[in-house]
Amino acid sequence: MHELSLIQALIEMVVKSAMENNIKKVSKVQLVVGESHGVLPDALGLAFEILTQGTVCAGAVLTIEKSTLLLKCRECAQEFCPEGYLYRCPNCGAVNAALIKGRELYVDYYEGD
Ligand SMILES: [Zn+2]
Repeated sequence: MHELSLIQALIEMVVKSAMENNIKKVSKVQLVVGESHGVLPDALGLAFEILTQGTVCAGAVLTIEKSTLLLKCRECAQEFCPEGYLYRCPNCGAVNAALIKGRELYVDYYEGD
């Protein structure tokens, strides 16, 4: 399961940080997930629930902020959001774009006490 491996490192990070900050219980974790990861929020939530069992994050609410894709055409330097899976430049029609946003995957913040 793709989501499990993606979220595992993030949870470990929060658990470690919570320990360092003497936080006994994490109540909320907010993630930023780029669209390029193609993860399903529901699957991510489930993975979170499974992987946090027995940790300070157990029972915490997971919220996910999606970061939309932004591409830049290598031909004409136009920046655009792709529609569907075809990364065609709306300006010049080239299919030669670089991903400049949408690859993010990190913990925005977490709350606990
Ligand atoms: Zn272009």
